[in-house]
Amino acid sequence: MYNVNADFINEQKISETLENNKRADPGKVSEVLAKAKEMKGLNMDDVAVLTCITDPMQLQELFDTANQLKETIYGKRLVIFAPLYISNLCSNECLYCAFRVTNKSITRNALSQKHIEKETEILINQGHKRVLLVAGESYPKEGFDYVLESIRSVYRVKNEHGEIRRINVNVAPLSKDEFKLLKEEKIGTYQIFQETYHRQTYRKVHVGGKKKDYNWRAWALHRAMEAGIDDLGIGVLFGLFDYRFEILAMMQHINELEDKFGVGPHTISVPRLEPATGSDLASHPPFAVADMDFKKIVAILRLAVPYTGIIMSTRETAQMRRGTFALGVSQISAGSRTNPGGYDGETEDDISGQFSLGDHRPLDEVIRDVASMGYVPSFCTACYRMGRTGQDFMDLAKPGDIKLHCAPNGLSSFAEYLRNYATPETKEVGEKLIQESINQMSGLAQKRAVKLVNRVKQGKDDVYC
Ligand code: SAM
Ligand code: SF4
Repeated sequence: MYNVNADFINEQKISETLENNKRADPGKVSEVLAKAKEMKGLNMDDVAVLTCITDPMQLQELFDTANQLKETIYGKRLVIFAPLYISNLCSNECLYCAFRVTNKSITRNALSQKHIEKETEILINQGHKRVLLVAGESYPKEGFDYVLESIRSVYRVKNEHGEIRRINVNVAPLSKDEFKLLKEEKIGTYQIFQETYHRQTYRKVHVGGKKKDYNWRAWALHRAMEAGIDDLGIGVLFGLFDYRFEILAMMQHINELEDKFGVGPHTISVPRLEPATGSDLASHPPFAVADMDFKKIVAILRLAVPYTGIIMSTRETAQMRRGTFALGVSQISAGSRTNPGGYDGETEDDISGQFSLGDHRPLDEVIRDVASMGYVPSFCTACYRMGRTGQDFMDLAKPGDIKLHCAPNGLSSFAEYLRNYATPETKEVGEKLIQESINQMSGLAQKRAVKLVNRVKQGKDDVYC
């Protein structure tokens, strides 16, 4: 099945939908925004209408609606993680990526398990609790076991400053049996980006290696689901093809997963093409996405799939990241390095990093900034450790009940960060925010928050409900 055409991506249907909805008629836009407020998601026609918005007033209406949904479902919480690049070896030839096999201008490196432990320790000492493990598609002599062993190495590190409590994974598509092995290692989310859903563009930019096979990649999340991994992340690399097409194709992918497995993706990532060493394509994106369109993409996704987290990485500048929190972003990376060994400074970003970063600030500075904007940085990992994943998570999230868990847990994990890792300036901003947040809560959520935060103040770590 997995080598046959991934027919759930129907390009003709996408073109027709875009053609039929190519004007953002004000009446229609208002109708779609009113429907979005019901928080039941949008269909392909609705999404196509929103992609056509150019009028500043309509754009503002779109942004306000996205903000309203984000606050209703997620509150002010922003989940924090760091990527951990374990290897930049790769046998593929993706023309936009510095890790592509023929690129001679970067230094190649697959971290030893000892080195992975060292990198993990640095992230733990900074205060991180979640990492996203990333690798190119070529492993040292152990093969795929290298990835499994690396996950064990990360979870193994525990010191007086804490431990990593959730590892998400972004590695090349696996076979069903390999996915089963990955699940046994107790990963959080498995994420993979189709890069572009447009077949012709896909062929043009993936010119060598296993990644040339569009269908193997497109069916990857089906295989993961069948292997029992129900916490999945999808994404598009924006800039390769028309973003309107890509959003609609991603909707088709989401609808397919919901139809087949009863549950859609847990997260959507929105990477935008950034310059990469040795890549002409990355410096000259064929369909560069302007900043305003990028914000529009985030807002539309928030309305289209209200219960799916949206991840914003440090590819984007601090200013752009700030601008998207109110539009629907629910997770951000911070203090990132995209070169294996980047955290201990043994390798340089520019000679072995995957792409250039837009936000270079250390974790503490990002946390202070986020908190001073009124957003609560959350290091919470409770849902996945309590087994609230896949359908269970969606059941909980859909009626908005997740706020009863996420809001108190977010505050207690933030209180833990402030007590154990923050600089005095960050502590001051953060403690004030925790108090204000508790004051604004009510009922059970407030009761839980007070109890959990007090336990942290008394010296307890890792408290959640
Ligand atoms: N190698 C695996 C793969 O390609 O699926 C997994 C990890 S890959 C290092 C992670 C993601 O980085 C890719 O899926 C791609 O979307 C993104 N990426 C690659 N080159 C990029 C660039 N120049 N700018 C922004 N993102 C890029
Ligand atoms: Fe390799 Fe992934 Fe980069 Fe492609 S995007 S060259 S598969 S690391």
